[in-house]
Amino acid sequence: MITLEGLSASRGMVMGPVFCLADGEPAEIPRYAIEPADVSYQWGRLQSALERSRSELSLLMQNRTREQTEIIEAHVMMLNDPEFIPRIKKQLEEKLCNVESVLYDAVQETVGMLRTTGDTYLAERAVDIEDAFDRVMRHLMSDTVPEPGERRLTGSSSRFVPPGTILVARNIMPSEAITLRDAGILGIILEEGGATSHVAILARAWRIPAVMGVRGVLDAVSDGDEVVLDGGDGIVIVSPPSDVAAAYRARMPLAGATQKKADEDRQRRIQEPAETRDGTPITLRANIALSEEAESAREEGAAGIGLFRSEFLYLSRRDVPDEETQYEVYRATVEAMNGAPVIIRTLDAGADKMLSEQKDQGEANPLLGWRAVRYCLDRRELFKDQLRALLRASSHGDLRIMFPMISSVEELDAVLDVLEEAKTECDRLGRAYNSRIKTGVMIEIPAAAVCADLLAQKCDFMSIGTNDLVQYTLAVDRENARVAHLFDPFNPAVLRMILQTIQAGRNTRTEVSMCGEMAGDPSAVFLLLGMGLRNFSMAVPNLEPVKEMIRRVSLKDAVELAETAMGLSAAREIRMLVEERIKSYV
Ligand code: PEP
Ligand code: MG
Repeated sequence: MITLEGLSASRGMVMGPVFCLADGEPAEIPRYAIEPADVSYQWGRLQSALERSRSELSLLMQNRTREQTEIIEAHVMMLNDPEFIPRIKKQLEEKLCNVESVLYDAVQETVGMLRTTGDTYLAERAVDIEDAFDRVMRHLMSDTVPEPGERRLTGSSSRFVPPGTILVARNIMPSEAITLRDAGILGIILEEGGATSHVAILARAWRIPAVMGVRGVLDAVSDGDEVVLDGGDGIVIVSPPSDVAAAYRARMPLAGATQKKADEDRQRRIQEPAETRDGTPITLRANIALSEEAESAREEGAAGIGLFRSEFLYLSRRDVPDEETQYEVYRATVEAMNGAPVIIRTLDAGADKMLSEQKDQGEANPLLGWRAVRYCLDRRELFKDQLRALLRASSHGDLRIMFPMISSVEELDAVLDVLEEAKTECDRLGRAYNSRIKTGVMIEIPAAAVCADLLAQKCDFMSIGTNDLVQYTLAVDRENARVAHLFDPFNPAVLRMILQTIQAGRNTRTEVSMCGEMAGDPSAVFLLLGMGLRNFSMAVPNLEPVKEMIRRVSLKDAVELAETAMGLSAAREIRMLVEERIKSYV
């Protein structure tokens, strides 16, 4: 038995076999010379690999959504391409090399060409070509080929995750994680990553237990090894002996009658109002990454969506979604929320959530680079497609638009200008929209927090994004497990920025909310209430524990707590003070 420690990223305990993802480097391609007489044999090998790939794809096509079917059809078309496939035959004759090497080089050449055009659409097609021929290549190399129904992680080739396993990897991208929601995996263990990385955020929202920053896990396990994953304590136990396994099993989720009672209690709690013990009402909204999550947000009692991370709509597909596709998604989300506010954040691509065009830049510091509104302002038409879709969906409910990573008033002015242009275009096309649509900014860059009073004068609401605000204020990469101990929203510098933003909102009568992960931490919420915050948005599973805390404490005590806390100089002291005061309620 080996016990490994990491960072608690998503609570929950599971036990099961692991599935290890290789680091993503392509398998070595065999290369050898052939005789002219062997060309037809090599060509025959390609024909049978193509045939097997086609029949797999036609199996995969059954019971798929329209979008999935379109992707599979595109792959079939590529495997039947009337120019590309005969070209392989010609190259086999000319190069006199084995078919794997000829095919691999031809695919790489085509893909490289498409990627350097600078055209987003063509770059996305390159991913499709790689995917389609990856399947053929695996057949040629007699490698494991995914069973129909096995989950493929998008954004990288050769990555399939069988359901019922615990995924172990060095790291995965948010674009890959998005495919895990319905993949039937039991849990996630990563060597890298931090508790506020987007993968951790998604795992928590989807209740997939996860531990990150587990150094050495890839060396400690092999495919099929049994592990216990304790997401709450951030522990991984490899090959537990039967007594240890039994002890953990006893702590796993309840079953039968006990579970029914727990569900009934939960239902009752959902109905209870979110208000402090002394009667101050508090607004609790949900953070979502996919439109489908709106329904569970409503069922769990969220008073709206406080953050819809729209970039996942872009990351979960091969091409940039057009206006119509986006309109349908935003409209469905607004309708699912039955008139409650839905705050949709405009595309926050870049850094760890890159579109292919951004990947191609090879930026030295993507966290400080071409991301979010900076990217959108340079890709005005793509930005306007999203804004028109949002405007049109605003005629179906209380949709509000939020801009990420705003760093100055000029930048806010620039995005508002593009919004005006989008409105004019909607007018010209006779598209209905809410002309009084509310706009807001995320306060997630220190410059925005310091100038919150100036930004507030130009918008209707501000939402504090502590994940990035902590990252940029303390210069701590939120993805880096090595410096994770320094990532602390209770740091006085961060708390002062939050307080400054809350005060700027109060002085200008502008709504201030928080949608960073801090808003889902019940202890932090106690402190934030005392600092004057009344509006919180969090992952759906956090709604209940946060509400429980709010109902437990009085505003009077929270204010007193905040006054003392703001006079302390160290995060640790502040945290201890908050925990002490919470204990006094028990
Ligand atoms: C944040 O930065 O706090 C935030 C909510 O946005 P994201 O986590 O998507 O960067
Ligand atoms: Mg952010």
